[in-house]
Amino acid sequence: MLSLADILEKYWGYHSFRPLQREAMEAVLSGRDSLLVLPTGGGKSLCFQAPAMVNDGLAVVVSPLISLMKDQVDTLVGNGVPAACYNSSLLSEQKSEVARGVREGRYRLLYVAPERLVGEGGDLFQQLLSSRPVNFIAVDEAHCISQWGHDFRPEYRQLARLRDRWPDISLHAYTATATTRVRRDIVAQLGLRNAIELVGSFDRPNLVYRVLARSTIKAQILEVLERHRGQAGIVYCSSRREVDSLAQWLQDTGWRARPYHAGMADEERHRNQDAFLNEEIDLIVATVAFGMGIDRSDVRCVIHAGAPQSLEHYQQESGRAGRDGLEAECVLIASGADFLKWRMMLEKNGELSDARRTLLRDMERYAASVGCRHKRLVSYFGETFTKDDCLACDYCLGELEAVPEAITVARKILSCVARVGQRFGAAHVTNVLRGSDSEQVRSRGHHQLTVFGLMKDATIDELRGYLDQLLAHGLLQQAGDEYPILQITAEGLSLLKDAAASPELTLARLKRPDRRLPRRARVETEGWDGVDRELFEELRVLRMAIARRRGVAPYVIFHDTTLREIARSLPKTKDELRHVYGVGDRKAEDLGELVLAVVAAKARGNLKL
Ligand code: ADP
Repeated sequence: MLSLADILEKYWGYHSFRPLQREAMEAVLSGRDSLLVLPTGGGKSLCFQAPAMVNDGLAVVVSPLISLMKDQVDTLVGNGVPAACYNSSLLSEQKSEVARGVREGRYRLLYVAPERLVGEGGDLFQQLLSSRPVNFIAVDEAHCISQWGHDFRPEYRQLARLRDRWPDISLHAYTATATTRVRRDIVAQLGLRNAIELVGSFDRPNLVYRVLARSTIKAQILEVLERHRGQAGIVYCSSRREVDSLAQWLQDTGWRARPYHAGMADEERHRNQDAFLNEEIDLIVATVAFGMGIDRSDVRCVIHAGAPQSLEHYQQESGRAGRDGLEAECVLIASGADFLKWRMMLEKNGELSDARRTLLRDMERYAASVGCRHKRLVSYFGETFTKDDCLACDYCLGELEAVPEAITVARKILSCVARVGQRFGAAHVTNVLRGSDSEQVRSRGHHQLTVFGLMKDATIDELRGYLDQLLAHGLLQQAGDEYPILQITAEGLSLLKDAAASPELTLARLKRPDRRLPRRARVETEGWDGVDRELFEELRVLRMAIARRRGVAPYVIFHDTTLREIARSLPKTKDELRHVYGVGDRKAEDLGELVLAVVAAKARGNLKL
């Protein structure tokens, strides 16, 4: 019998386990219920796929989306792992074929939708399963069972019946949602017994986080996209209208981009999603409706043109970048107005609970604060971050500029808010501080205040950035919805009054574009060390051709990680190729000649596909 490590090597071409994978796999093998929580890209799928190859029998995998199932099954089959899916998208002869396969014991893994397994039409299917020993049941994306999660699916509720139907088979749940409430819910709903719970680290060291204060949004988006030309990216917007207009504008300026939101006709939406998955386009501009279905693992940037309503959402959405473990960039472009919009919307729908307010506020803090972003994110999810310098965020890369004498700056702004009687909004306060000689300022006599022109060298954006930060630090607060006015909080007041106390306060401003370019993040440079970039591109072309011919998504053939390593190590024989990360026995046999031919042609300098 092969060990787990042998199986990883033979079928997947992986040389080691990722954190918690071995423990999670052993829980499956020992038949003890388990719950595994790992961030997106952490490698959860392998935790039920590899054990399925150890013992005889069939592993049943519950998965919420047909597109997810298809990709996983395609990948497994491509690696020589016997797997199939059974869902409503199959024609009736395909269904009978799969049913026959199950009866004859041809598969190790069977992917099904939840309603198949326990729903109304599930009886026949269950009879079918009782014809074979079922090894274990894995519930993927298990947070879909919880109303506290961000993606509740009513059909997942039916899974509560699994335990009754199959009392003797172990259940294993997998999710990327880390909150305790969701975890508790999963355990309770699925009726997990004495489950071993494994919760991994939520830090994603390969992601570079940046925050920009929203100004000229198109230019800001372009600057990020230019760093990733020809690569996959997602641009999230907060409204359908913005999705449509940004997608159109990107297309007009020559980007391979398409829109995606819930207001589009199903057919068009699916077409755009498929185009993205099949690498026919590079960019998808989407509302948050675009999510779980996209398993494209080579997404190199996720841009938010507007802040999401919680850090949970941000983590989930930005986490779609770099699932292959290679470097990727997550940029949040936010402004104070985003949060106001959320508050108004939630209020209108009667959903502005204290909990929602807190979630919003935490998101706002992230957007306005300065400090290591990795640290902030992981500590939000209850972890301690031990590194001093992540070298993978705008703060640690020195792209933000700490404002000297932040306290003085804060005092100037606070006193302006006080002098205008705490009755005006950010725009007016900014005008007064900059000494703008406008009608609005004059008519109120504010040009005669001592604070008039007190910060005349600061730009509007800078001042707005400071205001956001003072709000986030709780020194200022906003009141009123439509035209919110700025008020000083108790803490703000003590900062203003008590000159003796000098609390620690950091304010930052984004570096001006004309300054020297930021350092490249370490992950960004290391990822390409020693890689023959031209060869890498040629290998991508080959991959696309094979994928088209076989009717599967390109990353099902090879991940970028694997292509990079081939373009770095330049294998000459199948055996050498077999040692490349992500090349198992089957892939080496199946695609080895094609790949080696491209590598050899490049070496001879006459590459022609
Ligand atoms: P998740 O379901 O947790 O989001 P996946 O299962 O899709 O993550 O895995 C993310 C990527 O990491 C996939 O490309 C997968 O093949 C790869 N991967 C998983 N485990 C390993 C491993 N032990 N070594 C190398 N790559 C791995």
